[in-house]
Amino acid sequence: MTTSRMFLLPAIYHTRCQFSSLKGLMKRIGARFDAVPFGKENTLRTLDEAIGDLESVGDVAIDQDMAEGLLIARDLRGVKRQAEQLSEFDKDDLLLDDFHGLVEEAAGMGFNVGDVQVFTVEEFPEPFREMDWTFFNADKSDTKKYGIPFGIYVKKTAAIPFYTSFLLSHELIHVAIGLRGSDKIARGLEEGLAELLGCICLFSRLRGSSLTANLMIYNRLNYPPNQFWDVYLDNLRQAIVLYQLYGLSGLRTLVEKGRDRIKETEKAILEGRYHGLSLPKGEWDPDVDKLTALVSGFPRNYVVSPLARYVADFISKGTSIQDMLRQNKIDEEQGAEAVHELAKKLFLVVVNEGVIANSDLTTISDPTVLRYLLT
Ligand SMILES: [Zn+2]
Repeated sequence: MTTSRMFLLPAIYHTRCQFSSLKGLMKRIGARFDAVPFGKENTLRTLDEAIGDLESVGDVAIDQDMAEGLLIARDLRGVKRQAEQLSEFDKDDLLLDDFHGLVEEAAGMGFNVGDVQVFTVEEFPEPFREMDWTFFNADKSDTKKYGIPFGIYVKKTAAIPFYTSFLLSHELIHVAIGLRGSDKIARGLEEGLAELLGCICLFSRLRGSSLTANLMIYNRLNYPPNQFWDVYLDNLRQAIVLYQLYGLSGLRTLVEKGRDRIKETEKAILEGRYHGLSLPKGEWDPDVDKLTALVSGFPRNYVVSPLARYVADFISKGTSIQDMLRQNKIDEEQGAEAVHELAKKLFLVVVNEGVIANSDLTTISDPTVLRYLLT
């Protein structure tokens, strides 16, 4: 059964929240939405119920557990506002529409993706049936060897509205590179090119830069880190440096020249030879500039315990810690520890004799940069 999780996730993707890990959030609230059939009204009602439960703390001092609930509730309030604005959609139609839109964007940017199609399947075609993947790209050689139609195969159970389209935009760049032919493995810098030209460039042209930025943060910059996805981030950084030096013109040339040339370029990067590569320069796109700056500059490790995140909103230079905790009904022992955490773990405040002597919290102008830990 398709459940309301599939409407909730798109609403979350449209919202910039303060939690550190989407997986951690879904561990806490996912089951509630899985018990309800798919649909906008069902999702909005379940959101209201979840917010109500999380906010009913009674008249006791706020500790770590309660702070976690209150912060999740605050995030869900933002998610609800986005859910209200989302139109009803059919999951499968959305995926196909997005795919066709992305293919058009790819053509508009000069990438040849041939007659690639997308197939949502229960199982991958043989001999790949057993593989534990969510995506599979069948290239022309797979057609020749195994009779599998050329295209991108998506496991039906793994398809998530908007997120799967975001991943399809990445896959399309592999398709464009793969069409040049090569027996080398599509890893390394090629992953970075797929991230930058696919997820950042194609996807943001189709669905806008704010949704793209959120998907980048929730899937590539979550905390604690995940080694599998961090590989993509490492390669994306290589591609970002190339983009800054050579622009989209330079990256497009790499796609056109194919995998062998990309491998040579990756070798040059690892030897520190970014400059003087024989690539054309030009075409810097303001949206790509913004998104690449966000990804490379985002302070991913600004993550603290829920109560530390909660008290951070009440702190500025000169705040008396005890007064602040009492005024906001925060457990004094755990609250004092949480302030200490801000000082000791991230050095965001200086505490002197129970008073905030200095604070860097006001420098973080975007409140979603300092996140609360959910694992
Ligand atoms: Zn890839």
